Amino acid sequence: MLEKVLIANRGEIALRILRACRDLGVRTVAVHSEVDRDLLHVRLADESVCIGPADSQQSYLNIPAIISAAEVTNADAIHPGYGFLSENADFAERVESSGFIFVGPQAQNIREMGDKAAARKAALAAGLPCVPGSDGELTDSLEDSKAQAREVGYPVLIKATAGGGGRGMRVVREEAELEESLELTRAEAQAAFGNGAVYLEKFLDHPRHIEFQVLADAHGEAIHLAERDCSVQRRHQKVIEESPAPGITEEQRMELGERVTAACKKMNYRSVGTFEFLYQDGEFYFIEMNTRIQVEHPVTEMVTGIDLVRHQMLVAQGEPLSIRQSEVRLRGHAVECRINAEDPKTFLPQPGKVTHFHSPGGPGVRMDTHLYTGYTVPPNYDSMIGKVVAHARDRTVALRRMNRALTELVVEGIRTNVPLHQELLEDPQFQEGGVNIHFLENRAASAEE
Ligand code: ADP
Repeated sequence: MLEKVLIANRGEIALRILRACRDLGVRTVAVHSEVDRDLLHVRLADESVCIGPADSQQSYLNIPAIISAAEVTNADAIHPGYGFLSENADFAERVESSGFIFVGPQAQNIREMGDKAAARKAALAAGLPCVPGSDGELTDSLEDSKAQAREVGYPVLIKATAGGGGRGMRVVREEAELEESLELTRAEAQAAFGNGAVYLEKFLDHPRHIEFQVLADAHGEAIHLAERDCSVQRRHQKVIEESPAPGITEEQRMELGERVTAACKKMNYRSVGTFEFLYQDGEFYFIEMNTRIQVEHPVTEMVTGIDLVRHQMLVAQGEPLSIRQSEVRLRGHAVECRINAEDPKTFLPQPGKVTHFHSPGGPGVRMDTHLYTGYTVPPNYDSMIGKVVAHARDRTVALRRMNRALTELVVEGIRTNVPLHQELLEDPQFQEGGVNIHFLENRAASAEE
């Protein structure tokens, strides 16, 4: 049984994990950088250890420092959260070889899914539909790449196999652009991920982003917790997420849900995970799998009533799944707005001191955030400072509730993207539901004209 968990992350997700630990009666260790001493979860944790300077390379990505912190505090497990080391297979391996439980999947699954070309192959082998694309990584032969792109059909998308966070992708509209685009994407991927390998996918021009949540134990059981629609994106980064996805039928949900759980079993997958798909003209296409808890997990928790982080911890300590597929029922609709410390027009980060903070509340509203009055948002990390989630019996009421929640939310001292969310909630296309991934950028472009 887990007694003490080290939380290898910061911000709202570190607090979320701490809360799940408390609910399970598990003690917590917070590790933090020098600028993060005042994080809410650091104050609330049973113990805390400073692991290095603000630069995340030397703190939140510093594997030896994190392992030593687990050793000196006698923790028995390490929860990686999202981002940072959460999808680093070497870290998962080091955690386990040092005698700790890694709250996540086996290193080999992380490694396979972290290489997008390998993930495509595994998904195809497991019977999941994929975007038409190249047969694995592209070789150095331009002729061969041209032939593959022609076969896939223009426009194509060049993607870095090690890509993530919406980076390492480039659209190519015609063969004349292919050579230069390949060189650029390879160079960027090499610089950003230390790996210049790329592959090709057909570029879909009006897809929605729909993803399936799974939960699997170490004994070969797996269930799915339906889907989330994350099509409202900026630069391939999600801004609003919701569950269920507007217009997806129960039949489609069950059909794909069964396929992703079968894929989990085939891969011997354990822990929480997300299969991401693009959905266009009634067809689903697998794009990648995330082998960790995701930012948008609360919308699934709200509609299913299942605490994902709790179950992630239970399966990590070897317990069999206590929920059967037939027990997973969707109640109503949930939507999440990511609150970023950024200028709502220019999107430039706005770190600084929060002079006043008030969290929204009331029926069907949840806010996951580490903010409090007097907290200073440091400039060193991601600008997301929290998530507002609204849940109601249907989508219309959930959106109205979100509006109410955003009106109640007070963040003074720094600028946030709340005005953008308020505008989006009033947008007739968004209100109708089912917008595609280009909605937000098209909207911004037409506002400029
Ligand atoms: P990352 O790991 O960087 O998040 P993904 O492969 O998940 O990258 O893709 C992120 C986003 O990029 C998707 O949600 C979608 O908006 C866009 N995208 C990815 N693949 C395609 C494609 N084949 N056609 C069109 N858009 C795509």
